[in-house]
Amino acid sequence: MSQPEDPRAPTPSPSGRLAAGKQDASGPPPGPLRLIELSPQNLYDKCQALARNLWWSWHPEVTNLFRELDPVRFRQLDHNPIALLAEFTPERLEARAAELVLYSRINQAYRRLKEYLAAENTWSDVHAGVLGSKPVVYFSAEFGIHESVPIYSGGLGVLSGDHIKSASGLGIPLVAVGLFYKQGYFKQQLDIDGYQHEEYLQSRVEALPLEPAIGTDGQQVQVAIDTRSGQIRAKVWKMAVGRVSLYLLDSDVDGNTPEDRELTSRLYGGDTRVRIRQELVLGVGGVRAIRALGIVPGVYHLNEGHSVFATLEAVRGRMDRDGFSFDDAVREVARQTVFTTHTPVPAGHDRFDSGQIEEHLGPMRDALGISHDHLMGLGRVDPSNHGEPFCMTVLGLKLSRRANAVSALHGHVSRKMWKDLWGWRVEEEVPIGHITNGVHVPSWLSWQMLQLYDRIFPANWFRRMGEPDVWQKIHECDPGELWETHYALKNLLLQFVRRRLARQCKRRGESDEAVEAARSVLDPNVLTIGFARRFATYKRADLVLGDLDKLSKLICDADRPIQVIFAGKAHPADDPGKGLIRKIANLRHDPRLAGRIVFVEDYDINVCRHLIQGVDVWLNNPRRPLEASGTSGQKVVLNGGLNCSIPDGWWAEAFDGRNGFAIGRGEIHANPEITDARDSAALYDVLQNEVIPLFYERDADGLPQTWIKMMKNSISSLAWRFSSHRMVMDYARSCYVPAAGGLSCDMHSR
Ligand SMILES: *Cc1c(COP(=O)(O)O)cnc(C)c1O
Repeated sequence: MSQPEDPRAPTPSPSGRLAAGKQDASGPPPGPLRLIELSPQNLYDKCQALARNLWWSWHPEVTNLFRELDPVRFRQLDHNPIALLAEFTPERLEARAAELVLYSRINQAYRRLKEYLAAENTWSDVHAGVLGSKPVVYFSAEFGIHESVPIYSGGLGVLSGDHIKSASGLGIPLVAVGLFYKQGYFKQQLDIDGYQHEEYLQSRVEALPLEPAIGTDGQQVQVAIDTRSGQIRAKVWKMAVGRVSLYLLDSDVDGNTPEDRELTSRLYGGDTRVRIRQELVLGVGGVRAIRALGIVPGVYHLNEGHSVFATLEAVRGRMDRDGFSFDDAVREVARQTVFTTHTPVPAGHDRFDSGQIEEHLGPMRDALGISHDHLMGLGRVDPSNHGEPFCMTVLGLKLSRRANAVSALHGHVSRKMWKDLWGWRVEEEVPIGHITNGVHVPSWLSWQMLQLYDRIFPANWFRRMGEPDVWQKIHECDPGELWETHYALKNLLLQFVRRRLARQCKRRGESDEAVEAARSVLDPNVLTIGFARRFATYKRADLVLGDLDKLSKLICDADRPIQVIFAGKAHPADDPGKGLIRKIANLRHDPRLAGRIVFVEDYDINVCRHLIQGVDVWLNNPRRPLEASGTSGQKVVLNGGLNCSIPDGWWAEAFDGRNGFAIGRGEIHANPEITDARDSAALYDVLQNEVIPLFYERDADGLPQTWIKMMKNSISSLAWRFSSHRMVMDYARSCYVPAAGGLSCDMHSR
């Protein structure tokens, strides 16, 4: 990333993006006089304070401060500023800051953080005042906030991270609850034959922005959950994400059995028994933790089924505290509960058998005063069907008054999928609405595009990025400037990919020539297509390989070649997914494709950020309608890349014929093999007849004018709509406010 021209005194951008709610500070401006007061310890403390609120991660000016202290170590440490600062004494930090003239920037960043945390007159103050002192409690099994905090696996986690960042930006009173995975999700390495190997690294708590969550009794909160086979305990950590506190439960405590101490160490690692126990800690433990912290929830937002046991503990709490009957408490809790379902793939919905439920929720149902059958019925579509397992999504739908899918199409699919729960209603009237996912603009926008937007967008556009008119200004941008900016980003991406590929070769012990070759793969003047996501089979990473001869012709075309960058992990238990990775990784041995199809290992937020900021085209070809939303393509939009996608998930409601490319028309054959064959043909068709010709159609200055026009259409029509600010505003208006106020709402109420 480039740096501001004058490192000593960067002028705040016209967006005012560092100032949160209020415009400027009342204190004296930073200047030489104030610097004298800054002792080494004082300077160090300010850097620590910045490093300990993840607010820094979506403020490139602050990220750059840390990077400049030691660019190489910062990269090696996964861009973790706490780990970086641990390598400095206050004196060495001071010397380094003096050398780089960083004082006033550190002061300024620190002051901006303080202002941000204290801001009044936020969007929420105006639009969601009813939430006041009773916050939304947002539950999710994973949170993807930054690569240095490895408690996420993929899209769901990144969505949760983006949700709480936007809630923070909008000033919505919200606290979040998740699990602390000491080993996180696995690190991926491919061996020489393309087989995926998984490695779990132990995080050091000291190197993470965690602090003990202190309860009303002045101690670190601990919760205990009884099961028929013993008690599970968990302690609670707190992490600051801007104005939002994220509470993470960690079962690694004294008194737990050795297995239970490991319970929360890995994300999606174990069998169904580990799974139900994790979900017990997240849901039941989470509600108890919130109570111990003295927080009274106004709304429960359950992001996906993993946390739905929270409703049972909330019901128990109402019976206990307010003397309600079970039925009355259920009605009250459901009124306060918002449930978001995230997948139309059946295996994506957790199901537990009767024995597992009795073992883990037996003591809970005793407290609730209900029979085993009654409890099982809450998780069954047909309560009288004793063969039906207990489904978390069913419980979520039954115990929430507001439920939503994550795109318009996913809404249709979900209503169809769950219509039997409301057998007396026609499908259209099944009470599952939709709020389409979006992404946190500051987290995914490149520094270079930010500079460009700052120059042409209205002042304070950063606070209005969920509004359409702001983004229309892109049409006034000089086409050459937009193209140059994109070209610079593409070059940065290629440098990143080459560095990674060389490292991969070295680690596998390949020859020096191979390492050298990796350093010169890909060409910045070639149309560059990115494909990166989980390697779940429905995402069909190999669709573009359907006809290798055709593909190699496109790749080797003398005048209009293409190149493809792949990345993504397969779940450790997903052998077909791993097979796909192997197939793609091994294409590097095909002389026709070598150097033009590459696989970058260990896809994470960092790899994603590089890819979405630099590609020309982002390819997404899931088997419709299995992609509930998808969000990576939304990140591409912000940076000027174009989407080429099956009209599924968000793209089904985004594509308008002028803002990107559609693969086929969304037709589905009853036989998935025929669908796949058709889609593969449609993919080659759109590449050959639309994408490639448009990219290489250049004017006298070498500019692809029609392509640039499409980039502008993409930015102006999509960036605001698919931002998480818009998404969280939608949740606030149509779910949080009515749930907190007890009013009904058209779209979601039952
Ligand atoms: C955004 C993101 C995803 C989601 O991508 P999809 O297109 O929804 O599959 C997955 N993983 C990471 C690391 C991301 O940043």
